[in-house]
Amino acid sequence: MTKDKDMFNKLQQEQRDLDASYRQSIQNKKEHEARDQDQATGVKGVTVCKSKTCTNSLYKWTSSRDPRYCADCL
Ligand SMILES: [Zn+2]
Repeated sequence: MTKDKDMFNKLQQEQRDLDASYRQSIQNKKEHEARDQDQATGVKGVTVCKSKTCTNSLYKWTSSRDPRYCADCL
């Protein structure tokens, strides 16, 4: 019985470690995206055209050829 409990504790610890690293990676991604975009809209993914000379929103205006750019650019 003791062995099962040890195993359970170990699994719980691993789960906590996984949760922590998962949250950390999300946090890192958010910070990276915030640096990439002037507008932090909180919407998942790229929301503004990637073209340096273009600031069009991609909302309902995404290029069918490349989702990172707006329909004007591609
Ligand atoms: Zn564009």
